[in-house]
Amino acid sequence: MSVALVTGSSRGIGAACAQALARSGYKVCINCIERMDLAQALADRLREEGCQVICHQADVADSAAVNEMVRRIERELGPVDLLVNNAGIARPEQFQDIAPETWKRLFDVNLGGCFNTIQAVLPHMLHEHAGCIVNMSSIWGQHGASCEVAYASTKHAIIGLSRSLAAELAPTGIRVNCVAPGVIDTDMVQVLGQETLDNLAQEQIPLGRLGKAEEIAETVLYLARAGYTTGQVITVDGGFII
Ligand code: NAD
Repeated sequence: MSVALVTGSSRGIGAACAQALARSGYKVCINCIERMDLAQALADRLREEGCQVICHQADVADSAAVNEMVRRIERELGPVDLLVNNAGIARPEQFQDIAPETWKRLFDVNLGGCFNTIQAVLPHMLHEHAGCIVNMSSIWGQHGASCEVAYASTKHAIIGLSRSLAAELAPTGIRVNCVAPGVIDTDMVQVLGQETLDNLAQEQIPLGRLGKAEEIAETVLYLARAGYTTGQVITVDGGFII
């Protein structure tokens, strides 16, 4: 049975990924930085269905904490075969208002988190000549977005990391891909307010609605199985940007 680590999986897209992977037979580590009660509740529900799941609280920006989490997964579930780098934070504001600490934190979590987790799981994947890494970017990692300069910069960088690492690791049998979600109905986008979200759905998203976390999880599951696909970015945005 394969082992998956999904970062930032107490809620939203990460929780949907953890659930889809656990239900399709992966042993899963659910990770989050806060609200371990949500992670535990998800784990309990999945265990009731017969899934093998653990929860681990760790800040992905902290390399020592990530290493400790990965060693625990190896002890309790086995080495990580599938890494889903989903943990991410956003802070919409005008560029001139971004504090240096905010800029640094967004890069430390969104991009640094990918660096830390990949470095922690890679030795086993290299040893096995196999493994799959899926990094969560965004349509704002493919296009510019007003008031999202810091966030969009981290998400562009995640695509650069993924493509370059895919090229470097392909000869070893390890695949690296990205998902670029559009506007997905999770806690992260609630800051925009219901009226803005409704207008966005009706006026700018051709499919006429926000995406569901489960629809991103389906794409992650596809990439986990797509043995001849590496270095790709799959956009899942209801046609927002065509
Ligand atoms: P969310 O805010 O609902 O959930 C974020 C999760 O990440 C939570 O479990 C939280 O505990 C965890 N997390 C945050 N910082 C962390 C850290 N430092 N270490 C470990 N865990 C941490 O977010 P979401 O909407 O589910 O988004 C998940 C991912 O998808 C993010 O990378 C986000 O940028 C990306 N994304 C979301 C959307 C969207 O519209 N919701 C669109 C494009 C991309």
